[in-house]
Amino acid sequence: PSREETSYFGAGPAPLPTAVLRQASKVILNYNDAGIGITEISHRSADAEKILEDTKSALATLLDIPTQEGPDGYKIIFLQGGGSGEFSASVYHMTALWVEKRRQKIVQELGPEDETKVFDALRKAVDQEFKLDYLVTGSWSLKASQEAARLIGANHVNVAVDSRKDNNGKFGTIPNESTWSLTPNPAHSGMVYYCDNETVDGVEFPAFPAIDSDKYQVIADMSSNFLSRKVDVRRHAAIFGGAQKNVGTTGITIAIIKNSLLTQLAKPDLLRKLNLPVGPVVLDWPTIVKNNSLYNTLPIFDVWIAGQVMQLLISKASTDGPKIATQQSESEKKAALLYGILDKYPVFHVVPDKSVRSKMNICFRIGSENDRDDKEKKFLAGANERLLLGCKGHRSVGGCRISNYNAVSVEKVEKLAKWLEEFAQQQ
Ligand code: PLP
Repeated sequence: PSREETSYFGAGPAPLPTAVLRQASKVILNYNDAGIGITEISHRSADAEKILEDTKSALATLLDIPTQEGPDGYKIIFLQGGGSGEFSASVYHMTALWVEKRRQKIVQELGPEDETKVFDALRKAVDQEFKLDYLVTGSWSLKASQEAARLIGANHVNVAVDSRKDNNGKFGTIPNESTWSLTPNPAHSGMVYYCDNETVDGVEFPAFPAIDSDKYQVIADMSSNFLSRKVDVRRHAAIFGGAQKNVGTTGITIAIIKNSLLTQLAKPDLLRKLNLPVGPVVLDWPTIVKNNSLYNTLPIFDVWIAGQVMQLLISKASTDGPKIATQQSESEKKAALLYGILDKYPVFHVVPDKSVRSKMNICFRIGSENDRDDKEKKFLAGANERLLLGCKGHRSVGGCRISNYNAVSVEKVEKLAKWLEEFAQQQ
């Protein structure tokens, strides 16, 4: 079948706009009529630099990212290593930020003169107080918290909420913030990590989590809802996401980092003295920023694709506010159509609680425990026959999952909606 006949709802890698891929096939052969393709040009060429600058500027426009110099501005960088690489990077940077903020507080109290005293107090503070807080609301934030425990030790990781606790051991809710146990941080050195959209479990924060972002440094994984809705960038110390779902091809990870974080990281020497980990240089945000994402060879083609996808979103935008608002309305409309049908027929059971349903990954089960396997198999087989592909749930949880990323058109979602109704009526 052709691309036009097929509708693909896989969770990532995921579909890209056909117009972008058509253009891509040309630039792979010959970029800018230079007689050489985009994957062959140097990442240090003028062409590559322009691609980088255009892509950063498009992203800043879409998400209304303040890019001025100074502590409240942000840098946009491109890395490799995927979302998983950034799980580790988050730990290294949150650790270095915690240490430096705590050190500054100690210097304020003791004065900078007595270095040994400052160091001893800092070592004690690390032993007794150092914690990174994780909101565990699904499989990916769980993985991120496990990576933190691997790197700094479980005693330094505070799972401030584990949403499986009051939900039969399963993800699917976000408990009220009054139940969260964030680490108290009189030194304002608190670090909180969350995953905005849990791809496997279909759970999405309806808005910025209830965290005082003046008191806590907040890091968000937005791998699976990047560019699907407005983001309150200014409340984050860092945001990251792999490109392979909503933004582009597999191979780059985008990060948006607050300038004040970049200048307040403890030095490697101090971290080593405190027996805290120092990350690899390719994950080091200040190094990548300093080198304009070109510390080492960057897959410029992936950046180009992301830039084209962003330009397309900008050209679609119809509001004066953040340009992503137009895409947000479309995502909401597509998700509402699907959830509407899933709610209408009792044979379907949406997995997450209504208040935290993801607009991007729609997870549901079919039938009851006795006939679930049979019904889900039939639904998926019927979907495949109709060229509605990629609707199987993640292998760790089973069931069905429809990924409703930006490049999945309203028309394709309508085709799937039709099959959902037809299937339900046959039951
Ligand atoms: N975070 C989220 C929310 C994801 O959905 C994924 C992958 O699907 C990851 C992180 C890991 O990304 P990667 O495979 O690029 O390391």
